[in-house]
Formats: sequence, C-alpha cells, structure tokens
Amino acid sequence: MTSIPASGMRLVPDMPICQQDLPLDWYQPEFQRYAEEYLALPDRLPATVLPWMDGYIKPALATLGDRVMLLAHYYMGGEIVKLVERYGGHVADSYELALQAVRHPEVKIFVESAVHFMAEAIAILAAPDQEVWITNPKSGCTMEMLAKDAMIEPIFDELRARYGDELMVVAYMNTSGRVKALAGKTGGAVCTSSNAKAVVGWALARGKKVFFVPDRHLGEVVAGWCGLGANELFQWGGGEEGARQTVAGLSAADRRRLDDARMVLWGSFCGVHTVFKPAHVAYWRARGYRVLVHPECPKPVVDVADGAGSTRYLWNEMLQAPPGARLAIATEGHFVRNAREQAALRGVEVVNMADIPAPEFAAIGCGCATMSRNDPPHLVAILDLLAKGRAPDLNRVLAGDAVNEITGTRDRLPADERTTIARDARRALEKMIEVTERAS
Ligand code: SF4
Repeated sequence: MTSIPASGMRLVPDMPICQQDLPLDWYQPEFQRYAEEYLALPDRLPATVLPWMDGYIKPALATLGDRVMLLAHYYMGGEIVKLVERYGGHVADSYELALQAVRHPEVKIFVESAVHFMAEAIAILAAPDQEVWITNPKSGCTMEMLAKDAMIEPIFDELRARYGDELMVVAYMNTSGRVKALAGKTGGAVCTSSNAKAVVGWALARGKKVFFVPDRHLGEVVAGWCGLGANELFQWGGGEEGARQTVAGLSAADRRRLDDARMVLWGSFCGVHTVFKPAHVAYWRARGYRVLVHPECPKPVVDVADGAGSTRYLWNEMLQAPPGARLAIATEGHFVRNAREQAALRGVEVVNMADIPAPEFAAIGCGCATMSRNDPPHLVAILDLLAKGRAPDLNRVLAGDAVNEITGTRDRLPADERTTIARDARRALEKMIEVTERAS
C-alpha cells in the first residue's frame, strides 16, 4: 500500500501557527464556542495554540482511534499544514488526497482541511462504510465557481450532439462531482496538474476531440506539452459568459475553427496563478534564481520558466535544493510561504515570484483565500464533535453535493441521482488512476 510521504514540514517555536484570524460570524453556530476560545488566546505561537488544540484533539483522536485520518492540501494556510501531521495526518496534493479512501479501506472517517471538490473526490471513490467530512464547507474554489454544472452542461450537450462519440471530456480535479460525471459519461477522465499531460495525451491518442474543463491556462499548457499548436485549440468562454455562448451563435469562421479544433478549452481560471507574468521570470533569473512555476500559470510564463509542474513537484524541488540554492516559485501564496519557511531552515532561499519590490511590478502573490477558511478552531471543533457523535451534517461530504461558497448552504441530490453522479464521476476518476499508474 502506498502511503503519503511526510511533507518534511517542521514546527519551530517562533513560527506563528495562524497568519490571520477569521471573524466569529464566519463560523457555523456549532463551531462558535471553539472559535471564541481560540480568538481569546493571547497570541498564535505554538506554545500558546498547541496546548489548547491538544486539549480537544488528543481525547477526540483517542476516541476515534485508527478509524480516522486527517488530510490537508499544501495550499492550506500555514496553520493547518503544520498541524495535521502533528496529529498523525497527511499533507498532499489533490491527486494523492483523492486516492486515500481507496488506499485505506481500514479508515472509516476522513477529515479533510482543504477545498470542497477535493473532499468530494475522496467521497466519490469511498466505499459505503467510509465517511468524508470537511472542516469548513464554505471552502469552495473560485475556478470551480466559474465552471458549475449548470454552466457547462448545456455546452456539453451541444458539443455532444455535434461531435457524437468523438467528444471526450477531460475534467480537471478542480470541478464538482457533477462535472466529473460528464467526463465519465464520455469515457473520459479526471486529471490533476501532476498527470494532465498523460491523461490528455491518452485522450488525443484515441483520436478524441477533448473538451477540457475548467482551467483555460492549464489546458493551453498541456496542449503544448502534447504537441498541439494554438490553431488546434478552440477557446470557449468561462463562467456565465461561457454558459451564454452557443454553437449557433458563433460566426461561420469560428464554427469552422471549432470543428477543426482537437481541444476545446472552457475559459475558467483562478487569479492565484494569473498574477504571474513573463517579466517576473526575467527579473528573478537575471538575479540568479531558478524559476519554477505551476502549470495553471498562463502559457507564456510556463514557456520561459526553468521548470513547471504540480504542487508535489514544486515541493520536492524545494526539499531537494542544495543549501545555498535560490528559487523563485510561482504558485499559491501559502504554499510559497510554507516553502520559504521550511527552505530557510536548510539554508535555501525561496521567494514568491510575484513579490518584487519595484513599482513596475504592482501585483503581489496571493493565497487561496477559500482554502484558508479552514483554521485551528475548525479542526478542533469537527474532531471534538465527531468524537461526541454531534458533528453537523453540513460538514459531511457526499458525491454530487453542491455547496454555495458564500452562504455555506448545500444542495444535496436525491439518492438515485447521487448514485448516478457517483457512478459516472468514479469512472472518470478511476480512468485517471489507470492512465497515471500506467504512465509512471
Ligand atoms: S488556488 Fe484557486 S484554483 Fe486552487 S483551490 Fe484555491 S481557489 Fe481553487
């Protein structure tokens, strides 16, 4: 059985655990008493925060025992990624997270501190006796918000009617289960940034016309990695604009380009990666830094970087850099901050590629704001309430759930529709695993 390797992250006494507190009314009613206690602590240093967390989490874990596994993504604010491993959990990228229910049938309760689509992917692959819980259901994803099933489905229906079985959907992991199910319906697959080249390459090798959803930048980058030129891509709109577009509404020239395209790219994106520009790469390279970027950055940035790859790739490059190395990294801000702190402990310098102290570079790197909605009080509360059998059902994640990131309300499908979504989305996830394992 493959286990998630330790992140190599270390807690040191003067490294604050939490960089930003949430207002009390951002917590669910059931979580507010934990939040009040946390907010009343005098500071966020490990010596203050850890005894408070231990007081709840250690007894909860003793009650839940080996049935529970804590999970977090690398993009989490500094607090959680440094803590889940301390409590026996794991930090991973979205591919590794998705596999955990399959890899650990002995675990019956997964508690995930990351965004909702990541927890849902675990739930889709989970056995009936395994439960998935998210520490904060308001942790949505802005890229996924621009690619809701209600936006994509009408376009999918149109393209399917036009191209029949030639059309195959490849859904990036940053989609709901409902969108992943569209991929499963066409015999397609899910992909992550770590395996997108293998998955898209597999689809193209079958002569398929790939409808890639939702990230336009990753789609363009991967198309280039697979040898496609810009003239072989058709860029659809994203969000509400993409939903309003129709094939009939295209000009005759655009319809011809659509017919000729080997990949149709949905136009979603996330601002976390689009702040990076080729000029940032040039700035740091001129100062002796090795420049590493995530493939959700725009293609012109990826094209000029020294290396591009998934979250796991970037973390490993940092861990393996020799003392004295200097790295400029273009990805999510909390990841880079964590990488900078950990690298500094080994004499390696890491900078956020967007943080340049010059007026002509106005943008600064930013973190995944939605993921940071998981914080120590959320982790403490869900574990304490799970151990007491009183965890709110809103935090339970089932295949097909759609959560409104702003209000925190949830739309849960009737059981029969949920079963269909779970079946089709699971097919797409299993295809991803099959293609990835074969390619590795
Ligand atoms: S960084 Fe952006 S795309 Fe990635 S999980 Fe966060 S909101 Fe979604």
